[in-house]
Order: sequence, then structure tokens, then C-alpha cells
Amino acid sequence: MKIVIATSNKGKAKEIKEILKDLKLEVLTLNDFPDIPTPIEDGKNFKENALKKARFVARLLNMAALADDSGIEVEALGKRPGIFSALYAGENATDEENNRKLLKELNDLPLEKRHASYRCVIALVSHAGKEETFEGNCDGLIALEPKGAGGFGYDPLFYVPEYGKTMAELSPDIKNRISHRGKALAKLRKKLIEIAQ
Ligand code: IMP
Repeated sequence: MKIVIATSNKGKAKEIKEILKDLKLEVLTLNDFPDIPTPIEDGKNFKENALKKARFVARLLNMAALADDSGIEVEALGKRPGIFSALYAGENATDEENNRKLLKELNDLPLEKRHASYRCVIALVSHAGKEETFEGNCDGLIALEPKGAGGFGYDPLFYVPEYGKTMAELSPDIKNRISHRGKALAKLRKKLIEIAQ
């Protein structure tokens, strides 16, 4: 069975491929289809956006597709940036620009008031149009300064109290076990094992 991950975000694609690597699946990404237009993400929440992306790609390629929509909700910012996490500091913002803006907005708020949650919804759409979603969350605190070189996005600022480290300082194995995406992917994996084996 072939499945395409509806993303060109290399950080996401790497984490998803890693968790699905031992299944009887040929996993492709949008980097294998450079001419395909970018799906529009105008949904109201993570679930709507994940479904929109997976549906769009499944229809266009007539293949099973899965899409991740994820982001960070910061309590002190009224759950912003949420679904706009990738664009937080502007249309083509880099991870560093987003992180700098987040530190600036939180200013001198003490660590204990910097609660945040990573959220992830993975949508699976079969080539015949059958739809399912899988969710995962991960709680942490926004650190006072970036640390670590692993992961992507907000990971250098996402402090995980149980480990006393930022997500970017944790090994990929640990991140995959505890992260929002790891938890959503564990549920998806179970489903794919039923379908693909
Ligand atoms: P999306 O492509 O609209 O789902 O954007 C998701 C954005 O949320 C990413 O570009 C990152 O900024 C952020 N994000 C999602 N998952 C993670 C993660 O595992 N680590 C760090 N940042 C993440």
C-alpha cells in the first residue's frame, strides 16, 4: 500500500516516516510530487485543517493521504498562536523569527506562568475518500531562552518539566514517545497496522 504525507515540512515528514518505518507501507511526501499545488489551510481548527490537506491530496493523487495539522497554544496568550503557529511572526516566518516573537510577547513572565500545549491532529483519507482523525497533546512551559538543536519549530523553547529539558534537547526517540505528534501517530499506527498488514 502507498500513502502520501500531505506536507512539505521536513521536520514533520521525518518524524512521521520514522514512526511508520516498519510497516508494510510505501511512504511518500509532497517532495515526491513537486508540481502539486499547496493545499489551502482555511479551517477553524487543527482537525478541519488536517482533513482539508489530506482530502485535497488524496483526491488529486487518487492515493491514500495523511496530513498533520499542529501548533502551539500558549495559555498566557489566550491559546495563540494555535493554528497560526507556522505564520506567527509573518507569512514566511522562519522558526527563529517565531521563537524570538514568542519570547518578546511573554517578556518577563516567570516560568511558572508560561504554560503551553503542543497540539496535533492527523487526518487519514483513503483513496476511496474514507476519513478518520487521530489527536495528541503535550504539555510544557515556554523557556526563558532557547536551548538544544534537535526537532524543529518551537522545540528549543518548549520546556518539558518531567525531563528538565527543552524538546530540542531530547533525543528523537523520547520526543516521538511524548510529543503531541508521537501520541497522534501511535493511534494512527494501530489503524494502519489493521489496514496494511
Ligand atoms: P502547520 O503546517 O500549519 O501544521 O504548522 C505547524 C507549525 O506548528 C510548525 O511550523 C511549527 O511552528 C509548529 N509545530 C508543530 N509541531 C511542532 C513540533 O513538534 N515542534 C515544534 N514546533 C511545532
